[in-house]
Amino acid sequence: MPHRYVKAIVQIRIGPYTRDGYGVSIMNGDPAAEPKLIRTAVDQAVNEAFIDAIDTYEMGWKDLAPYKLEDWAGNPALAHLQQSGPPAGVEDGAAPIQSFAVSNHKCLKCKENLTNAEWELLGRIPNLNRESLVYCFEHILAHLKRKLPEPVLTDFEEKRNS
Ligand SMILES: [Zn+2]
Repeated sequence: MPHRYVKAIVQIRIGPYTRDGYGVSIMNGDPAAEPKLIRTAVDQAVNEAFIDAIDTYEMGWKDLAPYKLEDWAGNPALAHLQQSGPPAGVEDGAAPIQSFAVSNHKCLKCKENLTNAEWELLGRIPNLNRESLVYCFEHILAHLKRKLPEPVLTDFEEKRNS
């Protein structure tokens, strides 16, 4: 606050992919005298961070490109994207996670390695420190399992049984 700026960092997760985005907002004025400046600056920084993160997914690029040919859409990579679309299931720098491949985290109880999906599932338990409470699906403590949002659990079980 002494420097009168706000920096926001957000992380967006879509399927197996996560993207970070950041935004910065400078306060023109004295936030101590005018506290409303803080709220506005935080809103702006967070909005900018979300736009930044979403932009790394190239969302909307293909749809907007025909209208921006004289501008950024002139670059050959984008022209290619317009003709062929993005490659299926592949993205620069991010291989899809093999959900049921084995992770390097071991269950505290049975000492078996968790699958990536089990490790992800632990991460969805609110307020759980999964670095210290590592359990495979069979051995997740019942009171912790109950904290999992229903859709997350259903999704996990569907994938597991397929
Ligand atoms: Zn276990």
